[in-house]
Amino acid sequence: AQQYPEWIWQNGEIKPWAQATTHVMSHALHYGSSVFEGIRSYATPDGAAIFRLTDHINRLYQSAKIYDMALPYTADELAAACRAVIKKNGLGASYLRPVAYRGLGGFGLSAETPIDVAVAAWPMGPYLGPEALENGITACVSSWQRFAPNTIPAGAKAGGNYLSGQLIAREARRLGFGEGIALASSGLLSEGAGENLFLVFDGVLHTTPASASILTGITRDTLKTLAREDGIEVVERDLPREYLYLADEILMCGTAAEVTPIRSVDGKQIGNGTAGRVTRRLQELFFGLFDGRTHDKWGWLEQV
Ligand code: PMP
Repeated sequence: AQQYPEWIWQNGEIKPWAQATTHVMSHALHYGSSVFEGIRSYATPDGAAIFRLTDHINRLYQSAKIYDMALPYTADELAAACRAVIKKNGLGASYLRPVAYRGLGGFGLSAETPIDVAVAAWPMGPYLGPEALENGITACVSSWQRFAPNTIPAGAKAGGNYLSGQLIAREARRLGFGEGIALASSGLLSEGAGENLFLVFDGVLHTTPASASILTGITRDTLKTLAREDGIEVVERDLPREYLYLADEILMCGTAAEVTPIRSVDGKQIGNGTAGRVTRRLQELFFGLFDGRTHDKWGWLEQV
C-alpha cells in the first residue's frame, strides 16, 4: 500500500495527513476547477533546496488568474508552506504539490466558491523509472490530440487539463510504451503527457512553441538557459510529426521527468538508441545544479 508522509499543509495550518480532507461536493471534484504545481526539492551540499520555488508559485498565480480564482494566501505564505511541509516531514529530495481549488459553496459552473489551498510533499525518485534517465524510454505518438488553444488554455496548469494527459499516458502504457507524445490540433508536435519535448538536429536543440498547446515548462526554460550558457543553440519552432523519426536525439523534460532521453518513437530507433551527446551534456548541467558541479548563477536553488 502507498505510504504517506505524516504532515500536510491545508488552508493555513499543518495537520496530520489523514485529516486533510475535503467535501465530496467540492466544485473542483466535479468540474476540474483546480490549479496546481509540481515542484522538486533536492538534497544539495548546502542542504535541502527547492528548485525554482518562486517561479513555480508565480505560475500557480497565473493559472489561478486565468480561472478567476483569488488565492487567499500571498506568494510568501505559499512559499513558506512549501518549506514547512518539507521541514516538518524531514524530507530531502522530494516532490511538492501545492493545489488550489474551488471548494464547497455552489454547484453552478460559474459559482463563486471559497478557494481551498493545500500543500503536500513526498519523497520522489525518477518519475519514469530509475532506468529511464540512463537508458531512455520508448515513446509513441498518441491517438489523442492536445486540446486546441481556444478550448482549454494549455498555459494554465489546471486539474481539468490532466484528463487529456491521462488519456495520452494511459494509452501509451496500455500499448507498452514508456510515455505518449501528443500532436496539437494543428497536427504539429505538441508535448508529452506531462513533459515538454526537445529534438536535436546537428547539435541544435529544437523545442515546440507555446502555440502548440504546451505548458511552457520551467524545466524547459531551465534547459534553454543552461544550453545557451553552454554555447548550444536553441530554437523554438513548429515541428511536424515525422521530425521525431529523423531527429539525432530526443529528450523529454519536466519537474517529474527531469531530463529523460527518448530512445525510440513508434518503434523507430532514435539516433543510436541511447542518450545522445547533447542530451548527456544537458543531464550533466541540469543534475550538476544539485551536486554543485553547475554554478547556480540564477538563484534557482531556494534553501528550505
Ligand atoms: N507539460 C505538461 C502538460 C506538464 O504537466 C508538465 C509538468 N508540470 C510539463 C509540461 C513540464 O513543466 P515543468 O517543467 O514546469 O514541470
